Amino acid sequence: MIRRIDLSRNYNNHKEEYLKAIGEVCSETAFSGGKYADLFDREFADYLGVKGVSGVNNGTSALHLAMLCLGIGKDDEVIVPANTYIATAWGVSYTGARPVFADCTGDTWEIDPADIEKKITSRTKAVIGVHLYGQPFDYDAVHEITKKHGLFLVEDCAQSAGAEYNGKKTGSLCDIGCFSFYPGKNLYAFGEGGAVSSSNPDYIDMVNVYKNQGCRTRYYHEVIGYNMRLEGIQGAVLSVGLKYLDEWNRTRSEKGRRYDSEIINPLIKKQTHPGNTKPVYHLYEIQVPDPEQFIEYMKGNGIECQRHYPVPCHLQEAYKDLGYRPGDCPNAEELASHCVTLPMYPELTDEEADFVIEKCNAYGRG
Ligand SMILES: *Cc1c(COP(=O)(O)O)cnc(C)c1O
Repeated sequence: MIRRIDLSRNYNNHKEEYLKAIGEVCSETAFSGGKYADLFDREFADYLGVKGVSGVNNGTSALHLAMLCLGIGKDDEVIVPANTYIATAWGVSYTGARPVFADCTGDTWEIDPADIEKKITSRTKAVIGVHLYGQPFDYDAVHEITKKHGLFLVEDCAQSAGAEYNGKKTGSLCDIGCFSFYPGKNLYAFGEGGAVSSSNPDYIDMVNVYKNQGCRTRYYHEVIGYNMRLEGIQGAVLSVGLKYLDEWNRTRSEKGRRYDSEIINPLIKKQTHPGNTKPVYHLYEIQVPDPEQFIEYMKGNGIECQRHYPVPCHLQEAYKDLGYRPGDCPNAEELASHCVTLPMYPELTDEEADFVIEKCNAYGRG
């Protein structure tokens, strides 16, 4: 079986280094926050080219804390894409603000700047763009709109660690960047992890306080805080991963570019990758007429596929009170009802990619 993703290959390739790093944390009992979590913050800030990073316990918390830093709260609106993983919107909802869903474009499948502009009201405070599937969204166009309307711009980089837009790393483009290190993300922890990035030191300072029970000095609580620190073991594991991130992204991209050019079945639609971006192929999405049937066909050929994501955010049960209807974000809905995720991870072999391509191209023939 060719798995959709196989983390054990990654673990086994770097096992000694990972275990040594974990051993060091254990010897020093630097378990919650601490030396190794702080070290990762500095390394990741250097890597991204930002002034600061604050590691947190997961990507959802990163998004939540980003909203708090920007003062988002009750009666505010934040525009987020309908085509994303739901956690992009959770961060907004946790503050009492309202997520307002914008459609994606029909070709890049990323947030549509024209639809953002249509959704702006007097209550809009921010836009969260998502570099979904590892493909940077159209930052220049979105930024022009947020600048014009005096809105904050946050980037959800959960799927785009290492991706670039006009030569700049995602996570260094906007007011705040939010990362997830959930296992399977391009850069991943051995459990849960996330980070906030920014070149505004005030935001990093606020995240450092919020995530640490509202403390700067132990037992003196400045604000109502949270327990959202990054664990030391995760920091140490992430520092190992960060050394290999570019290499992993390169091998992902080799496979991704082969899928781009060698899958030529007219029944299969692919995402476009604008020339000013360097995507990192977190997920390789295609659109097919009947996704369930395609997944069965691939399974019959020993290839595991999945769906990211079968229900767009605006039509999720959890958000039924927001009153969205089918047809409100037509491109996102079209994608949700036709998307399939092909196998994609750094250790996928060329022979396995050959086989995936062959079976995609044979799909629907007799
Ligand atoms: C994974 C993911 C998140 C959430 O991150 P967690 O670490 O799982 O909380 C948020 N947004 C996007 C786009 C994601 O893919």
